[in-house]
Amino acid sequence: MSAGLLAAAVLAPGVASADPDVPDAASTGNELSGRTVFVDPGHQGTGHSENLGKQVDDGRGGTKDCQTTGMTTVDGVPEHTITWNISQLVASSLESLGATVVSSRPDDSGWGGCVDDRARAASASGADVAVSIHADSTTTGVDADKHGFHLIVPTLPIPDAAANAAQSEGGRAASTSMRDAYQRAGFTPANYAGVVDGIQERSDIAGPALTSVPLVFVEMGNGSNPDDASVLESPEGQLKHAIAISTGVIDYLLGPDTAVEPSTAEAVTAVADTAVADTAVADTAVADTAGTRAPNAVSNPSAVSRLIAGIAPYVDSAGIGALADLVTEDNVSAVSNVAQGLLRQLLAPE
Ligand SMILES: [Zn+2]
Repeated sequence: MSAGLLAAAVLAPGVASADPDVPDAASTGNELSGRTVFVDPGHQGTGHSENLGKQVDDGRGGTKDCQTTGMTTVDGVPEHTITWNISQLVASSLESLGATVVSSRPDDSGWGGCVDDRARAASASGADVAVSIHADSTTTGVDADKHGFHLIVPTLPIPDAAANAAQSEGGRAASTSMRDAYQRAGFTPANYAGVVDGIQERSDIAGPALTSVPLVFVEMGNGSNPDDASVLESPEGQLKHAIAISTGVIDYLLGPDTAVEPSTAEAVTAVADTAVADTAVADTAVADTAGTRAPNAVSNPSAVSRLIAGIAPYVDSAGIGALADLVTEDNVSAVSNVAQGLLRQLLAPE
């Protein structure tokens, strides 16, 4: 698919199915109305004069560094830019469903707060869930062996009662939901650092120990691993991560669609498949991909998250060229608009 066709597909009204057999739009775009999500893209831009080594409360009776610069991938892409790009896509996805999104930092150029500042901001936001977005590294060189995503959860109990309550209940549930969403999206749990089924328990991460709303801390991949790095760096890869993160959040907030009639759930999947296929009229690969999409074997996601996951085949078929033509460092906000446009096409078929 050419960039022009992709752009036309995004911009053209009525791209999604008008098939009378398809039920009324399964999503109103208001599913997350009244919900607040705190999105924390890890680290910060370089345009600041803050002292990263300033000691701040670690939530466990000690102190730790205010911040770190974050990792750099084997190809030289900084973590703060990867997490910023993906957080913008996640924000667009959630806002397209009516959520209020509060971000820990306003841009990718300057300061974004110490870890304790961000925890306080998350708590003060009253968010239903907070998501800290990071990517890992295992060496400054190339590490071909260690790869995969993981969710960091805090060792319990946490000294602060409010943080302990939030992370022991909602935080664990949200982390599990995120793990399942990542696996459904085709990502592999990390094979290093003592990660078990995509979950790593740690007592040295200040964020969750200082945050009184449920917090998910995702390490999306290993920037030292060439395969993980290429996904973290590419526009489609970033959109895939954003889809996984968005669906993890949505499934936590909405729960599985156990209350939905099976026929409705199937129809929702059909809407997504039809929209994807119709959008790429000239690209049979899309229809093939959509038609052979693997069943959701890991868990039972919400209907809305399945709609969003339905974008993935489109992303696969559009390819690096089509999206990369549209996406540059200078127009990342427009990338969000593209993602939001795709979501709106899927969620509100004419
Ligand atoms: Zn990080």
